[in-house]
Amino acid sequence: MFFQANQLQQLLNTLLSKGYRCIGPQVRDGAIIYDSISSTEQLPRGINDEQKPGHYSLNNNTSSKYFDWANGPQAIKPLLFASRERLWESKQSDEGQISFELTEPETKPTVIIGARACDIAAMKIQDQHFLEQEFVDPYYKARRETLLTVAVNCSHPADTCFCHSTGDGPFVDDGADVVLTELDSGFLVDARTPQGKNLLEGLSLEDSTKEQLEESESIKANASKQKRQLPRFDIKSRLFNELNNDAWHEIATKCLSCGNCTSVCPTCFCHSENDVPELDGKSSAHYREWDSCFGQGHSYIHGITIRSETSQRYRQWLTHKFSSWHEQYGRSGCVGCGRCITWCPVGIDVTESLGHFEERRRD
Ligand code: SF4
Ligand code: SF4
Repeated sequence: MFFQANQLQQLLNTLLSKGYRCIGPQVRDGAIIYDSISSTEQLPRGINDEQKPGHYSLNNNTSSKYFDWANGPQAIKPLLFASRERLWESKQSDEGQISFELTEPETKPTVIIGARACDIAAMKIQDQHFLEQEFVDPYYKARRETLLTVAVNCSHPADTCFCHSTGDGPFVDDGADVVLTELDSGFLVDARTPQGKNLLEGLSLEDSTKEQLEESESIKANASKQKRQLPRFDIKSRLFNELNNDAWHEIATKCLSCGNCTSVCPTCFCHSENDVPELDGKSSAHYREWDSCFGQGHSYIHGITIRSETSQRYRQWLTHKFSSWHEQYGRSGCVGCGRCITWCPVGIDVTESLGHFEERRRD
């Protein structure tokens, strides 16, 4: 099915009138981020992004498209796995009794518009981690149950994208409620779930034409032409056999251990838990915050920092993401979004780091 570009505002109006909070892409501080929207005027129309290792910038173009860019620093992760949230608080009464009270997660029916194929793939991985293990995370679950996704297929890749080689893009496979493909005149639309179908109520939908489907195929072919790709060797097994390789030290001479890569990565889920006591000495709140395996404190256990060197921490990140993740979740933890490459202040490129082990093997 197809709808004209001017119907996009109608879609927003319908969602808002149904009580949904609409989250969409918009330009802020020189990047495309996701936040509440009520008007298509807020969308980054006629804007594309330039990305390369350690670089991100936005440019105006002559296109009238709303989604003519690849991605920004955020994915869906912050909407579901909050960067900081209170889990519970404890109080001591005047009689000395201590009580605990769980903090209920704040939720509101929400629709995210404009998520990319890599974002949807990453959300499915986080679903596995937070919802499909022995212990279900109630905070993630509450938000996930109230989130619907209107994804938009990518029209062109950033220099740092490699989702085609991980099998996660550039077009959405499954996991979204509605998938849009932006054409010159409007949007091809595909409702993938009953909830997605409900979101489209009130739109004037037309049958898609042969020419529109051909335009969509050509967009897909263009977005699949990605400069970067994962190396073709058996990464999962190879990394475990290269634990003492000097390459880890060479990469570590550049790495700042800043953790930017893990913050922007849509699948990373490491966190720390901290208690924040009140000044009255009688109450305390317990918080969960995003943490990074690049921080020294993250591997501190019983008086010892297990991974004191940057080389050990980079090795931990890469071997988890591309090797042991397979054992935990049946696939790698990388969806090829390229964010860790773009947002690394020194431009360390994960595809190059992996390729390094292939080259070494051939030496
Ligand atoms: S490892 Fe890098 S490219 Fe892969 S999902 Fe994370 S941020 Fe994206
Ligand atoms: S790889 Fe880059 S982003 Fe990640 S910790 Fe090292 S310097 Fe920071």
